[in-house]
Amino acid sequence: SISQGQGYDFFYLVQQWPGSFCDTKFSCCYPTTGKPATNFTIHGLWPNYSNGSYPYGCNRIALMMEPRMEVSWVSLSCKNNETTFWTHEWDKHGTCSESVLDQHSYFEAALNIKDKVNLLQILEAAGIHPDDKFYKVDDIEEAIKAGSGYTATVQCNSDLSGNAQLFEVYLCVDASGKDLIECPVIPTKKCNPSIQFPIF
Ligand code: 5GP
Ligand code: 5GP
Repeated sequence: SISQGQGYDFFYLVQQWPGSFCDTKFSCCYPTTGKPATNFTIHGLWPNYSNGSYPYGCNRIALMMEPRMEVSWVSLSCKNNETTFWTHEWDKHGTCSESVLDQHSYFEAALNIKDKVNLLQILEAAGIHPDDKFYKVDDIEEAIKAGSGYTATVQCNSDLSGNAQLFEVYLCVDASGKDLIECPVIPTKKCNPSIQFPIF
């Protein structure tokens, strides 16, 4: 356990747009419960240091799960199922905040913060819709700032035609896992100035 005793300074709550996970060359697979709702889903809640580095794989243990996660923390990968995804996120990231949040509290913290800020609603209220059109990254980030009060960072991937598209949104959460904060360190950007917001 490489980072025991080192703690962490804050979390990134990372949400993904399922349309952008699904329309790449890797494609995607829906869970047994069917097509997920047209909404952002959680990728992870990641303990981080203020200098930009982060601990991972702090203490591997087995996983017990929650029904709320089947809605908000869907796995769209064709290579593994939900349990594998949740186990991966717990093993890699969650174990590094275990001194503060036990496993149940960790997943609950991610779900609660996600529900506090309704990203899709904020974007749609600002005229930014998942309609395959192109939007300025700056406009997307400004809308989230105006709607949530906090600075977000958008990350992109590419669809089959090579268009950059809205893939993930990073928000920062204090080390207790309870409140949004301004990010101590901004993730490195991987977007063009103008990006597509795919239909899902
Ligand atoms: P990527 O290389 O696709 O950006 O990230 C791969 C994985 O590395 C992520 O899914 C996440 O597990 C981890 N990762 C990347 N950047 C960060 C970061 O800034 N903080 C933390 N805690 N993990 C990260
Ligand atoms: P990370 O990027 O956090 O290190 O790893 C994410 C892992 O979870 C990858 O192995 C990826 O294949 C798997 N995974 C399963 N479902 C999903 C999903 O819906 N989104 C993302 N980003 N990764 C998923």
